Amino acid sequence: MSASLGLYVHVPFCAPAKCPYCDFYSVPFAPEVATQYADVLRAAARTYVPRLAGRRVESVYFGGGTPVLLGGTLAALLTYFKQIYPVAPDAEITVEANPGSDLAELLPVLRAAGFNRLSLGMQSACDAELAALGRRHKTADVARAVEAARKAGFANLSLDLMLATPGQTPESIRRSVAFAAAQGVEHVSAYLLKVEPGTAFAMRGQQEADTDLQADCYLAACDALEARGYAQYEISNFARPGFASRHNLRYWDCGEYLGLGPGAHGFLDGRRFHYARDLAAFLTGRPPEGDGPGGGFEEYVMLRLRLADGVEKNALRARCGANFSAFDAKTVERLENGGFLRRGAGRIALTRQGFLVSNAVIGALLFP
Ligand code: SF4
Repeated sequence: MSASLGLYVHVPFCAPAKCPYCDFYSVPFAPEVATQYADVLRAAARTYVPRLAGRRVESVYFGGGTPVLLGGTLAALLTYFKQIYPVAPDAEITVEANPGSDLAELLPVLRAAGFNRLSLGMQSACDAELAALGRRHKTADVARAVEAARKAGFANLSLDLMLATPGQTPESIRRSVAFAAAQGVEHVSAYLLKVEPGTAFAMRGQQEADTDLQADCYLAACDALEARGYAQYEISNFARPGFASRHNLRYWDCGEYLGLGPGAHGFLDGRRFHYARDLAAFLTGRPPEGDGPGGGFEEYVMLRLRLADGVEKNALRARCGANFSAFDAKTVERLENGGFLRRGAGRIALTRQGFLVSNAVIGALLFP
């Protein structure tokens, strides 16, 4: 067991309604319920105090939902976690926000409480694309939010960018990347739109872009981001030097983290668990459900191959007691010859073409 730990807090509120593509767990914001949620969250957090003895919380991430809807309560929650958990003084502490939220007064409060990284759900810098996604903010709101964050002292900002969305083209992606770079942000997450079952998009029959357009959009984003100094370190994540997300790297390195809140997942003391996507159940104190042991060979390889660095042989041996001979040599050769995989310097990693079809490549490697 490593002493290093992450903390993820799921804030399950959005207002006034869900975005039509969104599959994250959230319910409409109601102030009295949010107060109750914060009280129950504190109580749930206290139950883990004995298990965190000797650990060091090196990253904290408040995601959602729309965490900033909690306002000053967010700062109070972080202060509370710092009191009861061994949060490292230099921990990366992220909060997600929507550009359309009123952030100018809140961000200085959050910064003073110790938040030092802000992730903004920009999605696109084209207003027509934002409207097609059902987003309520405009591109100008993103610029205002970035300005407010800088004024509040945030030196580590990330913007989300959605790819292959309705009406989007590789050219419009290049414009969105240019806009993000012009804001001077340190990090960009670029995700392909997936129409998930149960979302408003799925119910109204919204189709995903065809696979050729998805590939064109993804490659356009990768190239444009790299050209502007954002190195790809994971399938969907790009950063200026020194600004890769420490919290998210923990997930892909199969590191441990405590997840709190309805819909949150955790991995603690070698076992995975999750809280049900059910705020009412969380408020009654229902404990998380166990998902069994985690961190085995297949899981480690599957997660590490999302990273540009891939799997390193010494780390694989140390983590799983395995070496590269665990992979089928013919399959590795076939994937390498196909341009999906690269080998060298004691590593196996996916190429960008491999990232495009990562599920299939990783599946072929693990289950030849
Ligand atoms: S995309 Fe963000 S703001 Fe929209 S519903 Fe999902 S969590 Fe809420």
